[in-house]
Amino acid sequence: MTDYTDSLRANHESAIKDATDGVTFGVVVGGATKAAVADETFAPDDPAIAASIADVARGHKKDVDDAVAAAAAAYEDEWGETTPMERGDAIREWTGVLRDHLDDLALLETLEVGKPLSAARADVATGLDFFEYYAAAAVGEEGSVPSVGDDSFAYTRREPYGVTGQILPWNYPILLMGWKVGAALAAGNTSVTKPAEQAPLAVIRAAQLAEGVLPDGVLNVVPGFGDEAGVAVAGHDDIQKVSFTGSVPVGQEVMRAAADDVTPVTLELGGKNPFVVFPDADVEAAAQTAVVAGLYNNGQSCDSGTRLIVHQNVKDEFLDRYLDAVEARTVGDPLQNANQGPLCYATHRKKVEQYVELGKKEGATVLSGGSRPTDAEFKGGYFFEPTVFGDVDPEMRIAQEEVFGPVQFLLEFSTYEEAIDVANGVTYGLTAGVFTQDASRAHRAAADIEAGSIWVNQYFGTVPGTPFGGFKQSGIGRECGKEALTEYTQSKSVHLALGDPSL
Ligand code: NAD
Repeated sequence: MTDYTDSLRANHESAIKDATDGVTFGVVVGGATKAAVADETFAPDDPAIAASIADVARGHKKDVDDAVAAAAAAYEDEWGETTPMERGDAIREWTGVLRDHLDDLALLETLEVGKPLSAARADVATGLDFFEYYAAAAVGEEGSVPSVGDDSFAYTRREPYGVTGQILPWNYPILLMGWKVGAALAAGNTSVTKPAEQAPLAVIRAAQLAEGVLPDGVLNVVPGFGDEAGVAVAGHDDIQKVSFTGSVPVGQEVMRAAADDVTPVTLELGGKNPFVVFPDADVEAAAQTAVVAGLYNNGQSCDSGTRLIVHQNVKDEFLDRYLDAVEARTVGDPLQNANQGPLCYATHRKKVEQYVELGKKEGATVLSGGSRPTDAEFKGGYFFEPTVFGDVDPEMRIAQEEVFGPVQFLLEFSTYEEAIDVANGVTYGLTAGVFTQDASRAHRAAADIEAGSIWVNQYFGTVPGTPFGGFKQSGIGRECGKEALTEYTQSKSVHLALGDPSL
């Protein structure tokens, strides 16, 4: 892989050339890459330099129709008849090809999302782990034999839906493709995937790398905008199951569109996740972990731990250590592995800035950051400093709404009950961090906090096998564990009457 050690703009221009030379970012349908039916394109930006990376086919309903037809044919012809072991072998072979291209896929993610190259490599590698996990886990799927008495025999089968749709956000393109498409295919379905308009490149490339490995039509990718290709997937009559990751308002629209055909949905939505530090915590570990919890991927993670809820006795010590760690972070060229690159796109940075202004108006105090970096080199991109607020009230909008940027804030508590009330006092319920040395308190808090994943004395940690998903408005359903395979299959009960055996 090329070393990008030049100036930021020169680095990115040469990386864009490296990453896109000879690649056509089209609609991937039936094992071939094509122009969109309307022959339209769009061009996502490299957020570090605000310059377009490549022309991408702009799919509409007709492209989704073609992809659904290809996915249905692949399901009928072959994929629907494969054994879990055969499907697993094909998925593993494809994953091997993707691993051979890991650096290429990571470079595309860095360019389209703005994340540091080392983080992009780690995220892509984890996405590939998920493909392999589901390929293996599907082999172990079992039905059941309910007791129904001696006059009949009953068993259950789990059957795939057929054609399924996956709608992806931009923050972890290959990782979330692994979560969704991996489970869908391993469970025996075929896929029509709609990547986010801000970050479609790595996903298209990964689908192209399935050519000749997965049967044609098993995986189809229709890039495009939410109100064009996205709605067409969400409401398609011949898509039997939709899995969506993104914001709450769009998740609600997807659910409404799917409701017309009573299509089941899995929704992985936003978060406003608490990070609770009890007075007996290892404060240094909590402070260092809090920084990663809030600022990994520039805070553009559904599971970012943004609400630091810290006991009054350790607040000052925690804040000193935590602010030192925040201020030590580098904002800069993601190709040179600065801790934080730019935010993903222009209007997203605007939204983050508006929240920072709102926080100030609501009476919160900026303790660190709060603006764009001033270095001339960063002026062309969508950079923003890590930002920390103090003097925050739990009812303020910045304490209630998902900012989805590098913005954290501190809230103080005095009793266990108060900590839990504040932790649960939002409409979201995705993840939570708990720092304590007391095992009872850890287990009690894990039970009392309303969230799909609780991390004790660590933050993040979703690996293949651990279910992930939201309580409350953070979503419906679970991904990542075996439950994801359950979401992609439906059960059928079979009853056989047992007659009189006498001769
Ligand atoms: P978004 O909701 O704006 O878009 C997500 C996807 O939906 C995109 O592909 C978009 O094109 C598509 N879309 C938009 N309108 C649509 C419509 N009407 N019908 C169908 N599809 C439509 O979200 P985003 O900005 O891409 O991602 C950020 C959000 O995703 C945050 O809220 C974040 O918390 C959430 N997220 C959740 C998880 C999780 O696992 N819970 C993981 C990552 C991101």
